[in-house]
Amino acid sequence: MATIELEDVSKTYDANKRDSGVEAVRNVSMHVGSGEFVSIVGPTGCGKSTLMEIVAGLTDPTAGEVTIAGEPVTGPRRDVGVVFQKDSTFPWRTVLENVEFGLQMHGVTFDERRERSRDVIELVGLSGFEDTYPNELSGGMRQRVAIARTLVMNPAVMLMDEPFGALDEQTRIMLGDELLSIAAKTEQTTLFITHSINEAIHLSDRVVVMSARPGQIKETVGVDIPRPRSTDVFGSERFNDLSERVWELLKPEAESGLQR
Ligand code: ADP
Ligand code: MG
Repeated sequence: MATIELEDVSKTYDANKRDSGVEAVRNVSMHVGSGEFVSIVGPTGCGKSTLMEIVAGLTDPTAGEVTIAGEPVTGPRRDVGVVFQKDSTFPWRTVLENVEFGLQMHGVTFDERRERSRDVIELVGLSGFEDTYPNELSGGMRQRVAIARTLVMNPAVMLMDEPFGALDEQTRIMLGDELLSIAAKTEQTTLFITHSINEAIHLSDRVVVMSARPGQIKETVGVDIPRPRSTDVFGSERFNDLSERVWELLKPEAESGLQR
């Protein structure tokens, strides 16, 4: 079980030939409890991906500190899985070979990695596609492979940066719903970035609303819709109230890139 703790995290990218230095994130503090699902929403360019990269240990904050499971983050770690918007499958490997890659790298025996990979492939709904290559799959299915590749490592923490951002609305809602049941089974701690307000409410215990750049936390909205949830939550009175609330917070921040 693992918590995520951000304390006064700020990030300014160094000046280069083009820019005079970009202040991306300012003084962000947040706590994600063990097993919690927290989403971050905010306008394009407000520093969401920057924040995620800092938590993932892929980039250093200019100031502040991140700890996971009580340990300061100093680089990528094995107990932290990351999924990005752009699917990161290897085109020359089959679905099964993609999913078992991480285990192979860690020296897990053939039999064990096959078994674990098959279990996770089933979990993400790709049974029957083990021997298929990514370019024969739809975008939604490729993203399932990317999620399976991360899940198979059994990370205590999942960081997801707009994982369904490139998918159509229907696929996205369906995958979100599956992610809910996976997260419930694995009891992972999840930090999820999205530009879809409805997706954030559907999935999360809390929705962190960020301001325009430099990204600061504007407000955190608790989602008190009981679990287990299904797609039935869409359109319920409570759902609409929460969606309206987040929308009102975001409207003054956003010029583009936001979606109910
Ligand atoms: P979001 O994910 O919310 O759209 P990002 O974190 O990608 O926002 O970007 C926040 C700001 O930081 C943007 O102005 C972006 O141009 C800038 N930025 C992101 N990455 C870099 C980088 N590696 N070097 C310089 N500026 C960057
Ligand atoms: Mg981003």
